[in-house]
Amino acid sequence: MSLHAQKNSKQSPNKEAETTLNKEEQKLLSYIDANLPRAIEMLKESVNINSGTLNIEGVKKVGALFAKEFEAAGLQTHWVSMPDSIKRAGHLVAMTPMAKNAQGIKKPKGKKLFLIGHLDTVFEPDMPENPFTMLNDSTATGQGANDMKGGDVVIIMALQALNAQGLLKDAAITAYLTGDEEHAGYPREVSRGDFIETAKQSEIALAFEGANGLNKVATARRGASGWQLNVTAKTGHSSGVFTENAGYGAIYEAARIVNTFRETLSTEKYLTFNPGVFIGGSDMQYEEAKSSGTAIGKTNIISPNAVVTGDLRFLTEQQKIDARATMQKIVDQNLNGTKATIRFVDGIPSMAPTEGNEKVMEVISGVTTSMGMGATTAGDPGSRGAGDISYVAQYMDCIDGLGASGRGAHAPGETINLKEFPVLIKRAALTIYRLTR
Ligand SMILES: [Zn+2]
Repeated sequence: MSLHAQKNSKQSPNKEAETTLNKEEQKLLSYIDANLPRAIEMLKESVNINSGTLNIEGVKKVGALFAKEFEAAGLQTHWVSMPDSIKRAGHLVAMTPMAKNAQGIKKPKGKKLFLIGHLDTVFEPDMPENPFTMLNDSTATGQGANDMKGGDVVIIMALQALNAQGLLKDAAITAYLTGDEEHAGYPREVSRGDFIETAKQSEIALAFEGANGLNKVATARRGASGWQLNVTAKTGHSSGVFTENAGYGAIYEAARIVNTFRETLSTEKYLTFNPGVFIGGSDMQYEEAKSSGTAIGKTNIISPNAVVTGDLRFLTEQQKIDARATMQKIVDQNLNGTKATIRFVDGIPSMAPTEGNEKVMEVISGVTTSMGMGATTAGDPGSRGAGDISYVAQYMDCIDGLGASGRGAHAPGETINLKEFPVLIKRAALTIYRLTR
């Protein structure tokens, strides 16, 4: 980082800033400019293949399209299949020869990188189509354009640019594009087993989920887990409710617990929990797999059953453990005549903010500064959900949010910002370049 670049940090990418980029880096930028139409074409082609998580054929098709492009960048690809029982397509893996021969005699230059993308989208074939369409000269819409086929193309174009300058020869890079990020198959040990094992051979994970502007990356992501509260109670005629003998019933007890969760924990930073289903009554049925249930209840009967299910999002493992302990204590203070139990289920771990992540961010900040865009800082972890990178965060340094920018991910009109797209490809290429020297 030179003083010269700092002085220009408020300006947009310009000629002057190029003085802080070396010859190889400048060539990378020229390649990306010259090949931008191909990047848009690749994006369009991939967006126009429906790849809803459950559309196994479609996910595989997008995988085949991207595999060709990774191979054009000199990487070797293979497909990781899932057992039929998982009902998911599988994953695409692409490795530079140096990453593939991890046990080889020659050591790679720089850090071993693990680049993360996903092939699936939230849009299944039975939802309304939204083919790739230019809305104006800098915005396009289409299913997964932003989340995250745009990010996948950022990875591919960055690697193609590096390969064109012969810069991947000594680099150990693995790109891992999962086929079920939006709705990972169960059990997670199977759907994410190979992903985690493969990642462990690398030192730094970079994920290309949606970018939040040009100067922010994610150094932390919250994890997601679930809970189910079951309440049973004495039943009887409603006229006796609140009395020593009849008690309070299951609905009052479940309401007390959920409300006390809110009163006790809702102001804790980065912690959220949301009840999604709340059922109570006499003849109650709850089907976990469908998140659905029924209840019959008469107003003159004290309810004997209630069930509530919810999520729990947290920034660190410790925060999750502490929150669960507090919730358990609240559950245990049963109202007269009732009995409550809570069951916690692990979902996606969190990517906690670490010093190592911060250090990788400094490298990226050096890149954006050299590009004349100013420094890069960490985005608010509270604004992001859980992602694939979280599965490997405990093993290595991690950064997310390196993909395409846009609006409305997961909503029908999702858009990608095509003005920022080439800048983000350049940021990715220079980051990979600097980390692998
Ligand atoms: Zn995504």
